[in-house]
Amino acid sequence: MDLHDVIAKYQDEKKLHHFEGSSGIQNLCKLLGDMGYHDRMNRMGHYGDQPLGNLVDFLEDNPGAMEAIITWIGDQDNEEWKENLKSELPIEGECEECGAPLETFMKDIDGINLEEVHGCPNCDS
Ligand SMILES: [Zn+2]
Repeated sequence: MDLHDVIAKYQDEKKLHHFEGSSGIQNLCKLLGDMGYHDRMNRMGHYGDQPLGNLVDFLEDNPGAMEAIITWIGDQDNEEWKENLKSELPIEGECEECGAPLETFMKDIDGINLEEVHGCPNCDS
């Protein structure tokens, strides 16, 4: 499965097919966040001394530019983005031991902390 396929599945799963106008910007930001890009510096507002909203305005008015970004992302051979997006997808398949469908769930790992694991919720896998 290449990155284009992962993005297509991700878009189906998250219903993120719309890349136009302000909801398109939100969808693009969601996709980028799930790829691993978060506004960690909380720059929204200004970037340096320029309004970051200029970029948002441009993308809002130019859905083709947003589509080009999505296509460009898919063209990159980036394992990290792929893994990050795949982790947002439901797991397909079933447990070899009990036959239950595999899923993502929170598991108690040491009696204190929960950790997100992928596997069978019934068996210790
Ligand atoms: Zn099982």
